[in-house]
Amino acid sequence: MRQSHRLSRRAALAGLAAGTGALALGGPAVVGQARPRVVVVGGGAGGGTAARYIAKDSAGAIDVTLVEPNRRFVTCFHSNLYLGGYKTIEDLSHGYETLATANGITMAHDSASAIDRDARVVRLLSGQRLSYDRLVLSPGIDLRYDSVPGWGQDHEQRMPHAWQAGPQTELLRAQLDAVPDGGVIVMIAPPNPYRCPPGPYERVSMFAARLTKARKTRCKIVIIDPKESFSKQALFEQGWERHYRGMVEWLGPKIHDGVKRVDPATLTVETGFETYKEAALVNVIPAQWAGAIARNAGLANASGYCPIDPASMRSAIDANIFIVGDACIAGDMPRSAFSANSQAKVAAMAVRGELTGSRTFPARYSNTCWSLLWDDDTIKVGGQFEPRPDKITSTAPFISQPGDSAETRRQNQAENMGWYAGLAADIFG
Ligand SMILES: Cc1cc2nc3c(=O)[nH]c(=O)nc-3n(C[C@H](O)[C@H](O)[C@H](O)COP(=O)(O)OP(=O)(O)OC[C@H]3O[C@@H](n4cnc5c(N)ncnc54)[C@H](O)[C@@H]3O)c2cc1C
Repeated sequence: MRQSHRLSRRAALAGLAAGTGALALGGPAVVGQARPRVVVVGGGAGGGTAARYIAKDSAGAIDVTLVEPNRRFVTCFHSNLYLGGYKTIEDLSHGYETLATANGITMAHDSASAIDRDARVVRLLSGQRLSYDRLVLSPGIDLRYDSVPGWGQDHEQRMPHAWQAGPQTELLRAQLDAVPDGGVIVMIAPPNPYRCPPGPYERVSMFAARLTKARKTRCKIVIIDPKESFSKQALFEQGWERHYRGMVEWLGPKIHDGVKRVDPATLTVETGFETYKEAALVNVIPAQWAGAIARNAGLANASGYCPIDPASMRSAIDANIFIVGDACIAGDMPRSAFSANSQAKVAAMAVRGELTGSRTFPARYSNTCWSLLWDDDTIKVGGQFEPRPDKITSTAPFISQPGDSAETRRQNQAENMGWYAGLAADIFG
């Protein structure tokens, strides 16, 4: 029983309100100790940012180790632009050398295999053990391979997901380029909650853009969606009508009555409404939950994601652990790289504050999700967010309008490209 490390939300908030943070409730205070240790698991949008900000803002006072198996990180964000032919895979690939050397971070290119929360130790696959005063987890999502009947990990080459970027993304584009004019593409969209709410629909736009540029305009893209509605729906549908008339068909659950079965061998998708036989391409985006390292450590609730304290990103279950990015339950914030980066800065500040005794400020979060529809036609949705006792809450939402001028859409795309460059620099140093 982890009684001493367990922290109810009420207790955490009471501790924070009293100015004691959760130190008294969690592990021992380490202010004054030589070089407190922080381990960060996951070198993506959340973990890279957290590691960098903890190391940078503590100016070497905290010993930071970042655990990430990959030596190069390929971003999911803007991977749809690669599918559409607007970016190269090199544009999406980032190394860790600058992040490590410029900020004094120790890289452990390994996977965390388990967390011993009582001993405050992260075990790595290599057998190495990393002890920590505070642990930041940003392992992203795992795919639920059992969520689409007939499809599983063995079939991800035949029916790619490309929802974790890298070889899958390149495979999906190769399959897209092999689609003949008149071919049918079927996308099985994911149920809520999942990484990047507008992502499937931007991806469809990018499929259509690449097909159009290859003069394969007789193709059809059918979206089998388990959701009644989706992010920026009216804007996407208007864009599809404007740029790709007749090419994209979205089917909600009342129409298709569920995916009954897929057959990867014959690229067949059977729904309650229709069976798509010998599709030219099937993109299965399955259900998702928090990365296994967080779930296996007992940090997730029944939803499969990890509850946090909205004011600090501290785990609601373990006071020594902070969870950011797609793995956490961030209230009104969508699962995006922008959100993960914003949450990681809040967690980094809280960690730095309690380990070095330095000043902290009230948490503020922000997010924008841009989606490219066609050349220089980009829509966006976003807002500001504040911690409330029950959840991170949207305070100033905004969304593009169907009547936006072409110039507004062009400016959105310029913002989108600038955001990516700025974010990559903010994460990878
Ligand atoms: C097609 C697509 C398009 C997207 N477009 C956008 C966009 O335009 N804008 C936007 O803001 N967001 C976008 N996103 C969402 C964005 O990619 C994610 O929300 C973001 O990457 C989440 O950050 P994270 O740190 O939680 O996870 P990730 O960035 O996925 O990082 C997780 C890291 O943890 C590592 N890891 C996992 N388990 C372990 C372990 N046990 N030990 C060590 N390391 C581990 C993984 O290797 C990985 O590197 C998009 C996503 C997709 C799929």
